[in-house]
Amino acid sequence: MSPPRKRDTAPTAPLLPPERRERVRAGLLDGYDRQKRDLPWRRTRDPYAIWLSEVMLQQTQVATVIPYWERFLQRFPTVEALASAPLPDVLAAWRGLGYYSRARNLHLAAQEVVARFGGRLPSTAAELLTLPGFGRYTAGAVASIAFGESAPLVDGNVARVLSRLFEVEGAPGDRAREARLWALATALVPGERPGDFNQALMEHGATVCRPENPLCLLCSVREECLAYRHGRVDELPPAKVRAAPKRMTLAVAVWAHAGRLLLARRAEKGLFGGLWELPAVEVDDDTPAPESAARLSQALGTPVHVEAALGTVRRQLTHRALSLRLLRVTGTTHPTHAPAFQELRWCTPQDASSLGMSTAMHKAFEAALDAGALAP
Ligand code: SF4
Repeated sequence: MSPPRKRDTAPTAPLLPPERRERVRAGLLDGYDRQKRDLPWRRTRDPYAIWLSEVMLQQTQVATVIPYWERFLQRFPTVEALASAPLPDVLAAWRGLGYYSRARNLHLAAQEVVARFGGRLPSTAAELLTLPGFGRYTAGAVASIAFGESAPLVDGNVARVLSRLFEVEGAPGDRAREARLWALATALVPGERPGDFNQALMEHGATVCRPENPLCLLCSVREECLAYRHGRVDELPPAKVRAAPKRMTLAVAVWAHAGRLLLARRAEKGLFGGLWELPAVEVDDDTPAPESAARLSQALGTPVHVEAALGTVRRQLTHRALSLRLLRVTGTTHPTHAPAFQELRWCTPQDASSLGMSTAMHKAFEAALDAGALAP
């Protein structure tokens, strides 16, 4: 007797009969037309402004993004204006939004748009994907919303909606699951108003098909929802297992001279790349002050010694628990360049306020001033 066949657990291609596809599309678009939020980037047709909103909305809440988006557009109103701005100015305008690689890529992509496309953002997802910072999601969003291309997109909200509507199994990050979600998004988007349809999917996930307590009784596609029909809304999608944030400790040099503090601009790559800071080096939790001084001396290319510990600033990032240990240091020379940094400057607090600094380092800078770093 042959052994029983194993159940095939691999997700199969989505079964999406044309009538069902049309009902899902119509239901989501109808819900969107009736209840969409009035967001400022939905009132513009400017592809650059739409692109900017999509970049800012990655990893940042809508309410936080709105004032940043408005200020950024005032400061850099066109692709050309952004492309010709110095990177530190762009990073300064980004301060508080986090994930600074987004700003660096935005700046690089603007320069490429000017150089390769005459300052006009290309209109297809395939061309957009050739620009820095454009992944499949951003390319699909800009191509569909700004240019009306039937390009699919999947973000966290869309993944949740599709998982429930079509009972897609698997945990976030599972490759077979991701492939199925993209296949579903690709099958659904062709038709009228592809940009609005993609926004309808995202809006549905943000406002109705929420992670907790989805509003199924108000849902415009409830009749089509397999998770609702099978009582599995709470199971889909399964929660993502998050890794604990990594601890990171920095020894931060608070070096005052003639009413100024020494500031340094970090190398482009890595955490806070390209941003200004009180010069800092990574240390272990238990590194003693003399050892921290030795590492700071090496980074600054001149000997420093620690006069006093000024306290610790803690900041929780998504993937890191940061401790910034403030050390008042002095040295016999006053460097103007250093091996580990792109630039050094001796700044008054007013000079420093116009430099691109991370929120964490800004807090450290203020803590240093509060601790009397510049007190006579
Ligand atoms: Fe989401 Fe509930 Fe609507 Fe299904 S019925 S799509 S779970 S809101």
